[in-house]
Amino acid sequence: MCGIVGAIAERDVVAILLEGLRRLEYRGYDSAGIAVIEPGDGIRRARVEGKVQGLADLLEKEPLRGQAGIAHTRWATHGVPSERNAHPHVSGSRITLVHNGIIENHEELRDELAAKGYEFSSDTDTEVVAHLINDALDHADSLYAAVQAVVKKLRGAYALVVMSPEDPDHLICARMGCPVVLGLGIGENFVASDVAALLPVTRRFIFLEEGDVALVSRKDIEIVDTDGAAVERPARESDLSADAVERGEYRHYMLKEIHEQPRAIAETLEDRLGTSSVPSAILGPNAEEILRDIRAVHIIACGTSYHAGMVARYAIERVAKLPCSVEVASEYRYRDPVVPEGTLFISISQSGETADTLAALRLAKKTGYLATLAICNVPESSLVRESDLVLMTRAGPEIGVASTKAFTTQLVALNLVTLVLAQHRNPDSPEIAESLDAMRRLAGDIESVLELDEEIRKLAEKLVEKHHALFLGRGVFFPIALEGALKLKEISYIHAEAYPAGELKHGPLALVDDDMPIIAVAPNDSLLDKVKANLQEVRARGGQLYVFADPDARMKNEPGVEVLELPRHAAALTQPVLYTIPLQLLSYHVAVLKG
Ligand code: GLU
Repeated sequence: MCGIVGAIAERDVVAILLEGLRRLEYRGYDSAGIAVIEPGDGIRRARVEGKVQGLADLLEKEPLRGQAGIAHTRWATHGVPSERNAHPHVSGSRITLVHNGIIENHEELRDELAAKGYEFSSDTDTEVVAHLINDALDHADSLYAAVQAVVKKLRGAYALVVMSPEDPDHLICARMGCPVVLGLGIGENFVASDVAALLPVTRRFIFLEEGDVALVSRKDIEIVDTDGAAVERPARESDLSADAVERGEYRHYMLKEIHEQPRAIAETLEDRLGTSSVPSAILGPNAEEILRDIRAVHIIACGTSYHAGMVARYAIERVAKLPCSVEVASEYRYRDPVVPEGTLFISISQSGETADTLAALRLAKKTGYLATLAICNVPESSLVRESDLVLMTRAGPEIGVASTKAFTTQLVALNLVTLVLAQHRNPDSPEIAESLDAMRRLAGDIESVLELDEEIRKLAEKLVEKHHALFLGRGVFFPIALEGALKLKEISYIHAEAYPAGELKHGPLALVDDDMPIIAVAPNDSLLDKVKANLQEVRARGGQLYVFADPDARMKNEPGVEVLELPRHAAALTQPVLYTIPLQLLSYHVAVLKG
């Protein structure tokens, strides 16, 4: 899902739309486009396959002007990336719109529209929405009413912004499953899929809720909910500065965000660590009451956040002595979970808008959980608004597509949750005091790991030419290995898998030869001897080993084995955070070296 920007003003909005698109570029996209309307004039649009810069170049040659406009960066789901499939789409000369998401019933809608004589000029699912609105406008009092009627026919996920020359003073916006934010100006208003796009023009935002449709004019905003009832949504002031989303001295956002981790973690911990305990009120004013009754924990998340949940399970069972299960949201939401009495549902998502995680939360709320807790980075998000308890990660905006600081701040937030639970269920655990102390030292220890950057870059050179890589860890370091493999495949396109080291002998060992780099995470924990034995198995088959280890692990460099020592940091709860950092740097450098 990609980017949307819209504006309605008393000045030309083209430059605002282009700047907005540039600010959404970080999400990755394959084409870009813009459409404007001047009162008394028709729809004018420009679209290109490729970069926003290509669109800017085109507009330089063939300028557009308009006081109302919409723009889009597309991540193709239906139809190849091409100019004809790029948004904004049109229906005749009457409707133009941009869409993020997927219309699941687009095929049947397309058949109905074709039978009515509508012709399609793209292969997208989006174009059906434009024609449906055109059709509905024949019977509706207004464009606003037509959009409200049409969204009822759509299945799937959408953020939509619609314009028509027949109603040149309005933008109509709708949301289901994809975020839409309205930006409030003076005598002008804006819309986007992400606040980042609008920070140069406003700090005041209204976040649409699921099912909302909004009528945006220069001076006013009206909103109706799914039932068509008029609703007020609160306006919020954002404390993000326009340059919070700029790269500064760093070559890439990912590198900037890797280096921001000590600060992000310090902020996530700020005012949350008591002298000898973690106040349960950090989860919300009524947390104390809920915590007394917790007997089990279910964690649901996707991708990187799922790995954070897997890490947390070890600690929740060991330190808090609560049974804990972890599952990906896209599986959980389609089964019939059995929920033991007194179960806490924890969802984890950076954006708080991850569609599967949100759907899982909504299912959970109907399934008899004791309470729901969201671990999230975006305070205004749906996940936060809809959960009983909340712990914000305070990582700041994450622009890099590969999650880094969002992951490590999730780990830290989950540590806080673990300790709060442990204080109730297992208050005598020595790990409580030890972990508090380790959390206070964590940001400083991460700074020391970041100093290994040059050594890790050298190591990356050895991976550049490889086609496959295997990541190994045991216990809590297995999910860290999974996260390392995910980072590598996501940004360097090298095929990477992670295994719990003890599983090697049950099959994957067959893949190991001298062309297979093996990256092992081997701190000095209770499983170290077992990991060492697993690494011997790999060496025996000629595998090239790269080991991230603790000075006390006594692992030696030898032919075929390279050891990179991390600072000594013994606390079991926080060690996984530290060992994540070199894996992030490794995949970053491999990706850069690969160009
Ligand atoms: N499904 C639409 C398309 O393929 C929108 C994709 C997007 O979210 O960018 O054009």
